[in-house]
Amino acid sequence: MAEARTQELLRSVFGHDSFRPHQEEIVSHFVSGGDALVIMPTGGGKSLCYQLPALVRDGVGIVVSPLIALMHDQVVALRQLGVRAEYLNSSLSTEEARRVENALIAGELDLLYVAPERLLTDRFLAQLDRAHIALFAIDEAHCVSQWGHDFRPEYVQLSVLHERYPAIPRIALTATADAPTRAEIAQRLQLENARHFVTGFDRPNIRYHVRMEASGAREALLRFIREQHAGEAGIVYCLLRKRVDVVAAWLNTQGLTALPYHAGMDAKARRRTQERFLMEDGVIVVATIAFGMGIDKPDVRFVAHLNLPKSLEAYYQETGRAGRDGAPADAWMRYSLSDAIQLRRMLDESDADEAHQRIERQKLDAMLGYCELTTCRRQSLLGYFGDPLPEPCGNCDNCLQPPETWDATTAAQKALSCVHRTGQRFGVNYLIDVLLGKDSERIQNFGHHALSTFGIGQDLSVNDWRAVFRQLVARGYLVADHDNFGGLRMTSACRALLRGEETLHLAKQVAQPKRGKKIRASIAASDDPLFEALRSRRRELAQQQGVPPYVVFHDSTLAAMAAMRPQTLGEFGELPGVGERKLQTYGAAFLEVIRESAG
Ligand code: ADP
Ligand code: ZN
Repeated sequence: MAEARTQELLRSVFGHDSFRPHQEEIVSHFVSGGDALVIMPTGGGKSLCYQLPALVRDGVGIVVSPLIALMHDQVVALRQLGVRAEYLNSSLSTEEARRVENALIAGELDLLYVAPERLLTDRFLAQLDRAHIALFAIDEAHCVSQWGHDFRPEYVQLSVLHERYPAIPRIALTATADAPTRAEIAQRLQLENARHFVTGFDRPNIRYHVRMEASGAREALLRFIREQHAGEAGIVYCLLRKRVDVVAAWLNTQGLTALPYHAGMDAKARRRTQERFLMEDGVIVVATIAFGMGIDKPDVRFVAHLNLPKSLEAYYQETGRAGRDGAPADAWMRYSLSDAIQLRRMLDESDADEAHQRIERQKLDAMLGYCELTTCRRQSLLGYFGDPLPEPCGNCDNCLQPPETWDATTAAQKALSCVHRTGQRFGVNYLIDVLLGKDSERIQNFGHHALSTFGIGQDLSVNDWRAVFRQLVARGYLVADHDNFGGLRMTSACRALLRGEETLHLAKQVAQPKRGKKIRASIAASDDPLFEALRSRRRELAQQQGVPPYVVFHDSTLAAMAAMRPQTLGEFGELPGVGERKLQTYGAAFLEVIRESAG
């Protein structure tokens, strides 16, 4: 039966004991010949959703993928598992391409990755006609969307697959989840009748920490890395190139391996940074936002921000590069209010039109509101992306160490009542002017100087009021109406707050950051000598083959090795991440390390 075979291959080839959420449903639907559209966050485990069915079904799985580097990485990793995988793209010589094509037609492949422009050639389609095809997978399917920034015109023509091979099941996958993009993918790829699998946005293994720190952020970063991520890979984002260079150089003087990456460097230097990040253990890349696209490294243990990102969308994408392997990872940020001022200035100076600038300004406010939360960060993030989380997560700084707060319920009630009385159509600046009782012509013209809320907010400063409004937005009491010049509207959640059934607490701005107890989010104690010895064996084995270390084994597999200390090949084969092929290839080498450490 297909079900039993699927379970068996999950263990024997991939070395996984169980499916990640939703994988099983998707795989079983696809194995039995159904089309699928899969929206799953980064690190959710999308690849398995087509790789496993390609092994279960007869014939070769054809995978369309837009990025040459990612294709290469996937094929290298699959070969380590003993899967017969190849790719076809412009990086191959004619001869190499011929060899792959012959293998395709001879039925000697399990999986073939193809660049879209190659797939669409008459020559390749004619070859496909002669091959026995198990399935089609269209990776990074949002590339079909004309409105997205990853648009690839060839993707639009991929509907040819359905027309030419109507009986062969297709799966399209992406992490980009907004509803319009999803509809566009379904329509352009003719997947309207496919089953849609939309999994949540949450990345439960990522722990969020945020703190305002006007100075000393760099030292705080160093402490954080030394105490929680010594010897582990991470990305540090800075707003400006100059700061990237300074921070990278400084981290090196502190004994860490840190490499800069930004658009001002020449292509060769950037490639070198990227390569060392992939191939070596424990490299930290200090970068502007230019870094990260197409980086599929699964064992990035932390993403740190030394400046405020410009929106929650950017923040979520950047932090999402941590912990793709599902093991604990940190998203850590130190920001200052001058970051916000600088970002606002950059916005004002940009040549975007007025409406666009307003939206960007509100996105920045949402970002700041998130930073100032005293409640669960994950709840706020997921709520913002329309995927609400009912309970606090227990894995963010505010859940783990509730911050000191003051009761801002009365202030919040004044603010909401001011929104209400002015007709729910004004922006923050105007509302604050009313609360502070400002003498302005605009207020006079609207007659708002006669309102009961006029001047009732003089106990707080402009900045305090801004913080109150940001929190009301961050926690979903108010929404900014983009169609109506950014006026703030109340949501139904306000009622409870106005009636005093709910309270609003805001963070005290503490001048001295308090040193809380350390909570470690790392997988393996890097001071464990066995773990270190296993890592160094992994490094040798990877170097011999010219592949990144995580392709040999993930950190989580090494950590399990160090904890369980298997003595026999049989025991070794039980470890997570060890399938039959890796047991054969690497079992003895690692058992030797374990034995030596005992003796
Ligand atoms: P995505 O493409 O959705 O970002 P990947 O397919 O790269 O995610 O998978 C992310 C990581 O999760 C990979 O390192 C993969 O080995 C691991 N993974 C996938 N499925 C499982 C599973 N069922 N059990 C354990 N690890 C898994
Ligand atoms: Zn939380």
